[in-house]
Amino acid sequence: MGVVPFLPYMSSINELDKLQAELPLTSKMPILFLGHGSPMNAIEENEFVVGFRNVAKKLPKPKAILCVSAHYYTNGTKVTAMAKPKTIHDFGGFPKALYDEQYPAPGDPKLAGETKDLLKPTPVALDESWGLDHGAWTVIKHLYPKADVPVIQLSIDYNKSPEQHFELAKQLKNLRNKGILIIGSGNIIHNLGLVDFANMHKDNYGYDWAIEANNLFHKRLLDNDLAGLVAYGKLGKAFQLAVPTPDHYLPLIYTLGLKDKNEKVELFNDKLLAGSLSMTSIKISA
Ligand code: ZN
Repeated sequence: MGVVPFLPYMSSINELDKLQAELPLTSKMPILFLGHGSPMNAIEENEFVVGFRNVAKKLPKPKAILCVSAHYYTNGTKVTAMAKPKTIHDFGGFPKALYDEQYPAPGDPKLAGETKDLLKPTPVALDESWGLDHGAWTVIKHLYPKADVPVIQLSIDYNKSPEQHFELAKQLKNLRNKGILIIGSGNIIHNLGLVDFANMHKDNYGYDWAIEANNLFHKRLLDNDLAGLVAYGKLGKAFQLAVPTPDHYLPLIYTLGLKDKNEKVELFNDKLLAGSLSMTSIKISA
């Protein structure tokens, strides 16, 4: 007897789900993971920057961006809190044109404060000295070339485990309902020590282990095995070569932590590069 009244209730929940799926995308902002690759992507024209532009065209314009960049890797968690973040050229040995490049997007001190509150009880320092590092600006400039969307960065605390980062990311979910675009920026396969510089421009070129790691990544993602991807240290030899240090992989964990159960996952720029890198990027949306 007790079960019967639940039937209409369940069906109305399903109706509600359907209704929500049809609401404009602004009701819940998609999430991105962007494979940023070489800083030269800031000023080069190539298929990857076209991929960044195309993904932005299908997004509702965000009120602001919160970026988790591989290059803001710190002792403790920080969030950039200045009104005018500087463009940081945190790389060496590139042409002058790249050092001349500026991305003058404003900051968002109010959003920095909200982010700090959302992450409680984890202490978050309001950082007035960082700015926009190349993990952020070299890709965001292709999404919003006018620099008219405020950007803040959340750092990656190198003392935390992948599981702790995954849990921390979940606390940011509500920002998606407030028009904030959250971007993880790193590279899933990123072994700089083994880069084949002689074959930098060979199309979709990866070593055997990189192909194996990429296939494994695809399978886990399409199976929605997020816990398996978070515990990446257990994914075998090929994955260990793909992720020799955590910095470029952890931004992916923030993106995955923000994913709701039945959301759609789309890959783009899904190519291997120079043997030991991947540019694979992800859009997750309701
Ligand atoms: Zn990088």
